[in-house]
Order: sequence, then C-alpha cells, then structure tokens
Amino acid sequence: GTRWSLRRHTALVTGGTRGIGNAVVVELATMGAAVHTCSRNEVELGKCLKEWMESGFQVTGSVADLSKREDREKLIQQVSIVFDGKLNILINNVGTFISKPTVDYSSEDVSFVMSTNFDSAFHISQLAHPLLKASGKGSIVFISSIAGIQAIKFPGSIYSASKGAMNQLAKSFCCEWAKDNIRVNSVAPGFTKTSLVEQINEEIVTGIVNRVPMRRAAEPEEISSLVTFLCLPSASYITGQVICVDGGMSVNGFF
Ligand code: NDP
Repeated sequence: GTRWSLRRHTALVTGGTRGIGNAVVVELATMGAAVHTCSRNEVELGKCLKEWMESGFQVTGSVADLSKREDREKLIQQVSIVFDGKLNILINNVGTFISKPTVDYSSEDVSFVMSTNFDSAFHISQLAHPLLKASGKGSIVFISSIAGIQAIKFPGSIYSASKGAMNQLAKSFCCEWAKDNIRVNSVAPGFTKTSLVEQINEEIVTGIVNRVPMRRAAEPEEISSLVTFLCLPSASYITGQVICVDGGMSVNGFF
C-alpha cells in the first residue's frame, strides 16, 4: 500500500555522496522518491549521479558548499526548479567535526563547525519551508548525534553543542510547523563507519566501541533505515522526537 512507499514524493538530502547521506539517498530512491542531493566535490558527485542513474534511481544533484549562505540559497532555488516548487522530504545531513580540547579551538574552528552543522541545517530548513508547505505533506529529519545528547570525551564540545542545538530545532520546528503539515524529527547516530571517522585512531575507536552494548560500530544503512521510516506516510503521527540509533550506547551507564 501507499503507507510503505515514497512514490510521488520529492526529497532533498544534503551531503549525499558519502557515508550516511549516501545511504539515505539510495534508500529514499529505493522507496520510490525523486531525490536531489549536493556536495562540494563535483567529480565525486558526478560519479555518484552516474551510478544512481544506472541503478534506475531518480536522483539529481548540485555542487554546493552549505557552510556558505549564497550556496544554500542557490541550492534551494535549484531544488524548487527541479521539483516544481514542492518538496516532501528534507534531510539535513551535512556535518563535520574538529576534535580538539576546548581551550585549543580557534574562532575559525568554531565558526566552521557551527556554520557547517547548525547554521546550514537552520537556514536550509528556513529556505525550504515554503516548498515543504506547498507539498501539503512535509517531513524534515536532522542527522544529529548521540554527542548532542550526552557528554562524550570525543569528538569535542563544539561539535556536541552544534548537534544539541539541532535536536532542539526538531522540537521547536515540530510545534511551529505542525499547522503546515510538516513533521520534524532528529536521528542521533552512534559511531558509524563513514569517511568522517577514518581520521580517528584505533585506540580511540576501541574505547568508543567498548562503551556500546552491541560492541560494534553502525553501518550507514543501519542509520538510513530509520531516517527513511520517519519520512514514510506510516510515520504520520511521529514528530518532535530525537531518536538514537546507537547499539545501546546512550543508555549504557554501567559497563
Ligand atoms: P561523511 O564525511 O562520510 O559524509 C559527509 C557528506 O556531506 C559527504 O557527501 C560530503 O561531501 C558532504 N559535505 C560535507 N560538508 C559539506 C558542505 N559544507 N557542503 C556540502 N556538502 C558537504 O560524514 P558522515 O556520513 O559520517 O556524517 C553525516 C552526518 O552524520 C553528519 O552530520 C555527522 O555529524 C553525523 N554523524 C556521524 C557519525 C559517525 O560516526 N560517522 C555519528 C553521529 C552523527 P564533500 O566533502 O565532498 O562536500
């Protein structure tokens, strides 16, 4: 039935060329959605678009650096043209981190992390609101992190703060935009095997994984399945929630 399908739905996934964003693009497209995505790297984006087209998916893309206001504005203009002014699904996935002790962060570090993670998600949501409203049935999902819920030693205070702020946006937007038939949720992944975490040394990875009751990291597909579910008509009464996908890490207080 149509409750478990995204046919005739349109979606924007920010940062879809690698990791969690890539898995979300594939899964939304598999469920029948037409998807637009973006990244900063034109060559990698072109490669992905070619592969998706060969798989029979309906995916388009733009080169954009979402840490920049002008690029966000241009992206939403392009999305509006591609989808005729209507958007059902917005996945705010783009994110970065700089791991440092708090006293070592420069003001450039702070604004780079905040503009990439928080400002981009806030501003893209603002810009996409008219399109989401016009679709008659909208769903926004923030990709935050369990680091936005719990204090963890790694990857650093400014990253955690940016993610905590995204979780709060899910709650505020839920209340503000329910009247426009837009649901808003936040997915908080635990440690997930992507290019973002390749820089982390093995000792730290072992330390993190040992805190996870399931004793392993997540695959990107284990995150994208919840993200996709939250966009389905089946999830029509779920809004304002922050949901962890973390192998139990966030409830492990004892071992
Ligand atoms: P990756 O670095 O593997 O992928 C990030 C994607 O976003 C790439 O496609 C990248 O392409 C794109 N991107 C990054 N910065 C920008 C930018 N400024 N403008 C446009 N595109 C951009 O990261 P993950 O898949 O691991 O992370 C995705 C989200 O999940 C992030 O918000 C992250 O904080 C969150 N998360 C990840 C966890 C993990 O353990 N991996 C855990 C918890 C949360 P390009 O670089 O070419 O622009």
